[in-house]
Amino acid sequence: MRVVVIGGGIVGAAAAFHLTRRGVSVVVVDAGLSGRATDAGAGIVCPWVDHADSSAWYQLSCGGARHYPSLVELLGGDSGYARVGALLVAEDPVELDPVEALLAERYAGAPEMGEVRRVTRPVDLFPALDPSLAGLFVPGAARVNGRRLRDALLTAAVAGGAELVYGTATVSADGTVIVTSPTPAPGVARDAEGRDGAPGGIPGNGAPSGTSGEGLPGGALREGVPGGTLGEGWREVSGDVVLVAAGAWSGGVWPGLGAAVTARRGQIVHVELPGRDTGSWPIVLPQRGPYLLGFPGSRVVVGATVEDVGFDARVTVGGLEEVLASGMLVAPGLRDATVVETRVGLRPVYTAGGRVGVGLAATQVGGDDPMARQEQVGGDRPGARQEQVGREGPGVGDGEAEFTGGRAAYGEERPVIAEVAPKVIVATGLSAYGLTAGPYAGLLAACLAIGETPPLDLAPYGMITSSPP
Ligand SMILES: Cc1cc2nc3c(=O)[nH]c(=O)nc-3n(C[C@H](O)[C@H](O)[C@H](O)COP(=O)(O)OP(=O)(O)OC[C@H]3O[C@@H](n4cnc5c(N)ncnc54)[C@H](O)[C@@H]3O)c2cc1C
Repeated sequence: MRVVVIGGGIVGAAAAFHLTRRGVSVVVVDAGLSGRATDAGAGIVCPWVDHADSSAWYQLSCGGARHYPSLVELLGGDSGYARVGALLVAEDPVELDPVEALLAERYAGAPEMGEVRRVTRPVDLFPALDPSLAGLFVPGAARVNGRRLRDALLTAAVAGGAELVYGTATVSADGTVIVTSPTPAPGVARDAEGRDGAPGGIPGNGAPSGTSGEGLPGGALREGVPGGTLGEGWREVSGDVVLVAAGAWSGGVWPGLGAAVTARRGQIVHVELPGRDTGSWPIVLPQRGPYLLGFPGSRVVVGATVEDVGFDARVTVGGLEEVLASGMLVAPGLRDATVVETRVGLRPVYTAGGRVGVGLAATQVGGDDPMARQEQVGGDRPGARQEQVGREGPGVGDGEAEFTGGRAAYGEERPVIAEVAPKVIVATGLSAYGLTAGPYAGLLAACLAIGETPPLDLAPYGMITSSPP
């Protein structure tokens, strides 16, 4: 059996890894687009404090957190994963009561979160913090280096026989995969800047699509992973099953998804505190404001913006200003830190049944309109996603939806992991939780691809195929 995996982010890389472990022949196609979410993700794995109102999200992300220890053991080496714990902080300790109650309720079903305890001086654990903050410590929380884990998964997949192809893929209705690179396929349109578009078009990626011939696509991917090949011109890549894991761009790969998948930009800042050993610092999740987490090498990550500006993968002055200004309020000890890197990623967002009045064209146009932006720093922290969804979503309904591959309600933002047509599997929409749930979602999608029963009931993750009522 042969599976074509489109997208080499955390989801596609994990799917490829699990497929090759099962002896399946795998081709991974990646376009190396700017704004890949896995490259920018902070790396917080702490699902138990979130998703109070969504069983689908909670089951998937909880399964994702539980999946990590066995995965990193299988991979060996250093995949950037460490259980450093999470500190929930607030100005008033009373603000932590609801989340403490939620964790107590969930503990029996998820003992891997560890024994949660109050901390009177969080600053003792994360020395850059405002010393007046109160805290609650969740010892089972972990952080992961998304880039390193993705590279480890792809490297292991290649060692297991997978082929990597750098190019831009599209899937036709009958499941045929066309990959273009580096010269255009016959009949392929060029955009206004002379870049080539794949048949069917990759929605507004705003970056060389991998077909411009200006250099090899997927540079970052290629640096970390041996064995990639670059397709010449265009070609058909055949497989028994196609697995679409192209993140925010998935709607341009599989036309059936269309505008139901969109991008949500996140800007994030990496700083260094020279002489400090930040590798074991816990994750900091404030009730308001940005999250913080430490990595080895005196590095602290502060993030992130949540912006609905379409496929615009730029770091902006306003975005950085928001992250840094609000970061200083939570962690004034970072004032003298060195800014070493800024990252930006496009979180893949799937809206069941499509977004009302917020189609792909609308979000792209909105990218130039400052009024269309809805920035909210710290959007990956607990609770923030729900607030964001509540403001911009068309609302959740329970109408009789026509669906493919599972049950679902209209208007919900949630993952899709489903067989959407014969021979075509889609796994995307992990939004702000893909570094938590992505490796597990890749495993689930791999199971679907080969007809193995997945370890999670995938009924809530189907794709709605009709319009909202
Ligand atoms: C700032 C920020 C902070 C975040 N923090 C966290 C966090 O702390 N915890 C957490 O759990 N999650 C976090 N996330 C979310 C997480 O990073 C994403 O949900 C996850 O990385 C999505 O992975 P993916 O594989 O679906 O998509 P991506 O990583 O975007 O990968 C998609 C891949 O598909 C390729 N592709 C696209 N189109 C084509 C095509 N036509 N042909 C071939 N290849 C194609 C792209 O080149 C890309 O490599 C964060 C995200 C951001 C942006």
